[in-house]
Amino acid sequence: MPGPASVSRIIDLDPFVLPLAGLLPAASLDDLADARDLLAGTHLDYETATLNLAVQSHLLRIGGRTILIDTCIGEDKPRPRRADWHERRQTGYLARLAAAGCRPEDIDMVMCTHLHADHVGWNTRLDNGRWVPTFPKARYLIGHTELAFWTEAAARPAEHPLNHGSFADSVLPVIEAGAAEMVDDGAEVISGVTIAPLPGHTPGHIGLEVTSPGQPSLVFSGDALHSPAQVFQPGWSSAFCADPVMAAETRRGLLERAAETDTVLIPAHLRGEGMRISRMGSRFRPRFCGCDGR
Ligand SMILES: [Zn+2]
Repeated sequence: MPGPASVSRIIDLDPFVLPLAGLLPAASLDDLADARDLLAGTHLDYETATLNLAVQSHLLRIGGRTILIDTCIGEDKPRPRRADWHERRQTGYLARLAAAGCRPEDIDMVMCTHLHADHVGWNTRLDNGRWVPTFPKARYLIGHTELAFWTEAAARPAEHPLNHGSFADSVLPVIEAGAAEMVDDGAEVISGVTIAPLPGHTPGHIGLEVTSPGQPSLVFSGDALHSPAQVFQPGWSSAFCADPVMAAETRRGLLERAAETDTVLIPAHLRGEGMRISRMGSRFRPRFCGCDGR
């Protein structure tokens, strides 16, 4: 068993504000009336019907290893179809990583829950006009199924660059540099840290499950859920889910397991550290907590 795990959030963009019905097409504020005490303000603006999310990485230190989970939007990336992601500069992300005690060369592994543009951006940085891995000593863990899906998609003619161009500028350069390592569901990355299948948002979406002595289990759950509003309404999949029905099944299963095992869920876009899940009949409620479960 590894030693205790510690987790730091490295913010890239916060708040990341999206219309409730834009992200979750099935959503209505009426169905979140009993959630107001937990969601209002930090997670959901009930007056404007907008969700407040964060775009952030999670820095996991465990067993002497340092793993960066999801790499946000990044800098200098041309994203003409999203003004707030387009050619960003001086975001302070690497300074915040440094403030957490970590230089780029200290990262042992980068883990991408999936290959959407807001999860791979800092995989690479611009160096003399070329995209190079930002974390020079890291192995980049990418799900086998996920990479196969996007590789096939990239081969088809398309009106717009794949995933806002992020497959070309933030995924392929890592593979070409020999830094990528394909992982399968259930793979143990290091002792106590396992790849968990969470398909639906994308076909090969994965999470990272961490078990360490004396601590609750942690699941870095990526975009299996975007907002704690979906704890109250697990059936609401996002407009960006490849398979909304499968995404809802995955989400419900994740919530059931978390409630049964008192696991701390750490969703990629959660404003805050983590949440435990309480079950009340057929419904769920979040209990926001630190990544250590307290
Ligand atoms: Zn996302």
